[in-house]
Amino acid sequence: MAQAAIITEQSPVTVLSGVGPARAAAYEKLGIRTLKDLIAHYPRAYENRGDIRLLSEAYVDGKSAVILTVATEPKVLRLRSRKTFLKFRAFDDSGSCEITYFNQDYLKSKFPIGSVFRFYGKVERAGRRYTMSSPIAEAWTESASLPTLCPIYRMSDGLSQKQIAKDIATAMELLAAAACIDPLPLDIREKRGLCTRAFAQRHIHDPENPQMLVIARRRLVYDEFFEFALGAAMTHKRSKQSGAPICKSVDLSPLLSQLPYRLTGAQERAIGDVLRDMAQDVPMSRMLVGDVGCGKTVCAAAAMLCAVQNGRQAALMAPTEILAQQHYHDLAPLLEAIGIRCVLLTGSTTAAQKRKIKEALATNDPKKRADVVIGTHALLSDGVDFSAPGLVVTDEQHRFGARQRAKLSEKNGHAHLLVMSATPIPRSLALVLYGDLDISKIDEMPPGRQRVDTFAVDESYRERLNGFIQKQIEDGGQVYVVCPAVEEQEEEEGEVTLYDVLSDGSLRDKPAPLKAAVTFSEELQARFPQYKVAFLHGRMKSAEKDKVMKTFADGEVQILVSTTVIEVGVNVPNACLMIVENAERFGLSQLHQLRGRVGRGTRKSYCILMVGEGGARGETARARLETMRTTYDGYAIAEQDLAQRGPGDFLGTSDGAIRQSGGLTFRLANAGEDVTILTDATSDARALLGEDPTLSEYPLLARSVQALFDIDAALIS
Ligand code: ADP
Ligand code: MG
Repeated sequence: MAQAAIITEQSPVTVLSGVGPARAAAYEKLGIRTLKDLIAHYPRAYENRGDIRLLSEAYVDGKSAVILTVATEPKVLRLRSRKTFLKFRAFDDSGSCEITYFNQDYLKSKFPIGSVFRFYGKVERAGRRYTMSSPIAEAWTESASLPTLCPIYRMSDGLSQKQIAKDIATAMELLAAAACIDPLPLDIREKRGLCTRAFAQRHIHDPENPQMLVIARRRLVYDEFFEFALGAAMTHKRSKQSGAPICKSVDLSPLLSQLPYRLTGAQERAIGDVLRDMAQDVPMSRMLVGDVGCGKTVCAAAAMLCAVQNGRQAALMAPTEILAQQHYHDLAPLLEAIGIRCVLLTGSTTAAQKRKIKEALATNDPKKRADVVIGTHALLSDGVDFSAPGLVVTDEQHRFGARQRAKLSEKNGHAHLLVMSATPIPRSLALVLYGDLDISKIDEMPPGRQRVDTFAVDESYRERLNGFIQKQIEDGGQVYVVCPAVEEQEEEEGEVTLYDVLSDGSLRDKPAPLKAAVTFSEELQARFPQYKVAFLHGRMKSAEKDKVMKTFADGEVQILVSTTVIEVGVNVPNACLMIVENAERFGLSQLHQLRGRVGRGTRKSYCILMVGEGGARGETARARLETMRTTYDGYAIAEQDLAQRGPGDFLGTSDGAIRQSGGLTFRLANAGEDVTILTDATSDARALLGEDPTLSEYPLLARSVQALFDIDAALIS
């Protein structure tokens, strides 16, 4: 036999035995191509099989672990369809349960009378009769230590939990030799008290106990931050070189005279900062931060005008199609009125249109040239080239992440960069995340804004809330309802997510049941048959999302139920009621963002924080909701957020969407909550680069960082 190819982290999943084209395609749907991707497919939650319950106390909505003694001999029943049924009874102190397995006669001998098993599955109850159908059965003895936390993976069609777990285990085994070499320098690992990468990977997938899970997670979070910090520092180095287009002569009056309002002092200051930067030959790297609704867009328009007046082009990139359209709709008339040619380029622009736009951007003929392009990350694709790039603006920066930012500035050489964000980030964090950016704050709202009255309520208020929804809609308003996580498989009672594992490894008493967006939107539709309820979640394709969002923006839909995807700058001035379900699961800054979705028009607006059962227990939870009720300043809220939620408390990490909002997309890490690890990793990364700027001594690290940044660039083009 020829020598087997060397298997590395970059090998495709098909090197695993049993993974053929079909399963590879299923993995592909989850974004998994290589063994490395597979190992980084961390569980979305864990079944808590260590949480042994009596039959009488089994969860109603989810699966439970019960310890039962077999009481009757298993019988095989044959159905006419030639299917078979294995059936027996088993009991605990609280009752007896009928257990059935379909088409698995061979299990007959597995369950002799008197034997004891840990059964895991859904316990159905009809009166005093319990039944379990095809539970997982593990022989139970006092001494045998069965695993308590079993991983639950995000799946796609054509995969099973078992297969994923097995493939991951095989992948780790195959790579075991390579895994002995830890990419992290030993002195850092020792200084920070981190476990090895191999240990961390093993225990995140198959934790021996909750403590191990915490230890494992800490290492993996550190790695995510560390590699990010290395990559960010390495890619940003170029940005201070001279060679930027000097944009000195500027006259904003043709723009400002068209506005129906006067700029606020804060807007004037921000624009002043921007124009001063753009007059230099060092490219501007500035972030404009200001609460939702403070008027950042017009500042961007002023910067774009400045670029064009100096013979340059400007691009404005928004994270979603709908936002790009909104900007185009708002800005194009203002700019066109001054004779500035504006084009819109998004994923849904037709090929013919795209060709024309690309030509208009690339031509040197000033008569044909497009001066301003507004779009989505379609702007980053190959072939979109500017003949005279002058300024790049990104809106709602936190959705892009630093990797895209790197790509953007790379693509446009020495263009000035203006980044706009509505996420107020505490200073300590901003330094780490955006250390390379100068910051202008818009800390003043346009006059006449109404405050969004905020209330924290619990389930007992539900009927009154429904009445309130009705009243708002009858008055012509629209309603947002935001729920936490939505997964293909809903989180069930009895499951443990990282949210439930506290920093000392203990588990939260009783995870609060979640309002799942899907079911909840159905419930609401049933409750309000006279209105249209639409549903939006993060796993929808972006075209689909935009479509739903548009029906809401157009007023066809009165109630929009969603996960946090609406958080980003969408403007529906008619929306006047924001309801956040399981508000205790959201970070304060995030609640503040959500609240900013309403109160954008003339309607009196409200934000109702609905607290899940048991959710408001404890000082912190109460203090947090109280902060929301009494504080309306995004910065104050962000600082509080950081102070109140210790970095050890993984609140909110169970939901990918929530995790994103902190500023970056990481698999496990949460920039808001894991702030100590973030700070450590960043300072370690800087120190390391100080000694070895190209990581020549650390080829493994260098490769990871490279892959991290390249992969992302490839994904977005
Ligand atoms: P954001 O900072 O969230 O992007 P926008 O730029 O979308 O905010 O502005 C929100 C709204 O406020 C827009 O309708 C805009 O026309 C309006 N606006 C902006 N600046 C002022 C101002 N100085 N006075 C009154 N209204 C303003
Ligand atoms: Mg905006």
